[in-house]
Amino acid sequence: PKYQSVALIIGVTGIVGNSLAEILPLSDTPGGPWKVYGVARRPRPDWNADHPIEYIQCDISDPEQTVSKLSNLNDVTHLFYVTWANKETEKENCEINGKMFKNVLDVVIPNCGKLQHVSLQTGRKHYLGPFELYGKVAHDPPFHEDLPRLDAPNFYYTLEDILFEGVKQKEGLTWSVHRPGTIFGFSPYSMMNILGSLCVYATICKHEGVPFKFPGTKEAWENYSDSSDADLIAEQHIWAAVEPYAKNEAFNISNGDVFKWKHFWKVLSEQFEVENGGFDESVGKMSMVEMMKDKGAVWDEIVREKGLVATKLEDVGVWWFVDMILGSDCMLDTMNKSKEHGFFGFRNSKSSLISWIDKMKGYKIVP
Ligand code: NDP
Repeated sequence: PKYQSVALIIGVTGIVGNSLAEILPLSDTPGGPWKVYGVARRPRPDWNADHPIEYIQCDISDPEQTVSKLSNLNDVTHLFYVTWANKETEKENCEINGKMFKNVLDVVIPNCGKLQHVSLQTGRKHYLGPFELYGKVAHDPPFHEDLPRLDAPNFYYTLEDILFEGVKQKEGLTWSVHRPGTIFGFSPYSMMNILGSLCVYATICKHEGVPFKFPGTKEAWENYSDSSDADLIAEQHIWAAVEPYAKNEAFNISNGDVFKWKHFWKVLSEQFEVENGGFDESVGKMSMVEMMKDKGAVWDEIVREKGLVATKLEDVGVWWFVDMILGSDCMLDTMNKSKEHGFFGFRNSKSSLISWIDKMKGYKIVP
């Protein structure tokens, strides 16, 4: 056969989905040559269109649509699940996310005779607890994969349980779970893109001639933080898909270094040629949701003026997420288990930061 492996990426325009769509088709990717299918609801955006994959528009929360759009894909060998839905309460998150994942597995497992592996992305909230209990139930960091589940509802646990039940249905089918922290990546369609949001915020400050102020807490400004590069996460997904020693395990995934936002704020300020307002002691923590609530028209004007790709502020600026991440002390994980199992990938977070900014500028998402 022309292809050694066939991937199905659910969430192909997301922050990690777009990286998988870019990396999997490359000629030197492990397990290749890969044929790639990618699923998302919206029409394919231009910034995703260069990747040599087959794009499928499908809403996986709709069981009938999932059957009609995915049941004819009989050659899939590897499923990469990199999507989610965000509701008000964790109870609702468990319901909707469980339903979405199950809709996909119910179609793919029976219809794909050659299916070998299911790779599920969850995240550090596995150890922190759900957003609604943020900072209240967390384990003591650094987080390692063997920690017991928290006694709190968590849609990541729902997803894992569905995964474990699902793989039982087919002899030899393996799984892996990937747990990133805050992701540095590209996608303007992501429901949580900290860097994209900060680039948009810096651009708006520059446009309005005001200093670019750090909206978070003093702890977040001064203490160690870490991040997970989207390409690195994609590399770990692909490693787990092909490496026998990685099967049926959960892995943390972070860059392997730490940084301080006060240092990265300088980089961001330089990149957007805006005055570095730093952390303002007299103001303290600010609310990005409040600060940005009337800026939609300002963003539209910037997009027009600078000839950017048409985006809506509510898509490219995920303010609640910025408030959450920069509003709390970052709790770190450990990459020991990954390394012990043979995954040695890492990123220099500062280079990662700059490379994603370059990419966002290159694709004219920000000026
Ligand atoms: P993103 O929000 O970046 O992307 C979601 C993707 O899924 C998009 O392609 C979106 O496109 C698609 N999608 C959303 N809903 C549906 C649907 N009903 N049917 C089909 N496609 C859909 O995803 P992430 O990579 O951020 O999230 C994956 C996991 O990673 C989640 O569990 C998340 O909690 C976790 N995580 C994320 C972090 C981050 O910083 N982003 C940090 C740590 C963990 P479209 O809208 O067009 O359908």
